[in-house]
Amino acid sequence: MQAVKYARASSVDEAITLLRDGGDTARVLAGGTDVIVQARERRRHIELFVDIKHIPELTSLTHGGDGGLTVGAATPLYRIYGDTEVVRRFPALAEATHVIGGKAIQGRASLGGNLANASPAADSIPAMIVLAGVARVAGPGGTREVPVAEFCSGPGRNVLQPGEFITSIHFPPPAAGSGQAWERFIPRNEMDIAVVNAATYLAFDGDVVTEARFALGAVAATPLSVPAAAAAVVGRRLTDETIAAAAEAARQTATPISDMRGTVRQRKHLVGVLTEHVIRRAVERARA
Ligand SMILES: Cc1cc2nc3c(=O)[nH]c(=O)nc-3n(C[C@H](O)[C@H](O)[C@H](O)COP(=O)(O)OP(=O)(O)OC[C@H]3O[C@@H](n4cnc5c(N)ncnc54)[C@H](O)[C@@H]3O)c2cc1C
Repeated sequence: MQAVKYARASSVDEAITLLRDGGDTARVLAGGTDVIVQARERRRHIELFVDIKHIPELTSLTHGGDGGLTVGAATPLYRIYGDTEVVRRFPALAEATHVIGGKAIQGRASLGGNLANASPAADSIPAMIVLAGVARVAGPGGTREVPVAEFCSGPGRNVLQPGEFITSIHFPPPAAGSGQAWERFIPRNEMDIAVVNAATYLAFDGDVVTEARFALGAVAATPLSVPAAAAAVVGRRLTDETIAAAAEAARQTATPISDMRGTVRQRKHLVGVLTEHVIRRAVERARA
């Protein structure tokens, strides 16, 4: 482990100053479940950790009057899936956060950390994409908003500029009668990285799909939004044929690699299977 200085920020402005003064070798520290491992293995050269967990707004979870949800970037995962309103209104987010690591990891790991770490297999990102999540970012140049779907730019890379960090992630209210689901395939029951993960959000007018979003993880250099799958179902009733068409569109969009967790062929197959699963589960939820 390299020697790393530690600074605790108590406000967004203080964190901006610490990160700006620290330069290239300063890193945000949230739960530390990724970045401490990276520092220990010397995968990143880090001289200063700026701890953002003690900034009150970064660990808040707020349900807006319009039914939207704002999650402070450093809010630990257990508080997200442990919130009954999140489980009821944003079940795809609850499902994804509930399986990241184990209980000990979930006590520290944050949604902002899962997003900023930008792993192609990050479990929460496909859920955040289909829920139209928007990252609120603060930095030396002020604040800005970045849709989660546009946040990751490559494996371990994101669109944050030097000195910028995520303060919160905002989700608009899901439409009345909509449904959503998230699922992953891993070879064992817990504590593993997804071979593939998938999420969907579907809104309806009667039986007809009016709005759809699909996202996949672990099948490209970044978590993927899949508009082609949405195009296969919007304006249509969900039948075995339209569901199969969405699954096929997702399979065509995925560009996985073979690695120790799975082959291209297995991952392509899983994309189709998981896409069908999440559609059927989202429909059940919409009807409930
Ligand atoms: C045993 C174990 C099991 C795991 N299992 C899973 C799993 O099943 N699924 C999965 O997706 N992940 C898994 N992970 C990875 C990890 O737990 C998650 O990515 C976690 O959500 C990271 O959050 P954190 O708060 O710990 O981030 P940190 O480690 O604190 O930070 C991660 C990176 O993001 C940056 N960062 C953190 N917060 C911000 C912010 N607000 N703004 C800008 N940059 C920021 C840091 O500088 C760092 O580069 C696992 C890790 C371990 C150790």
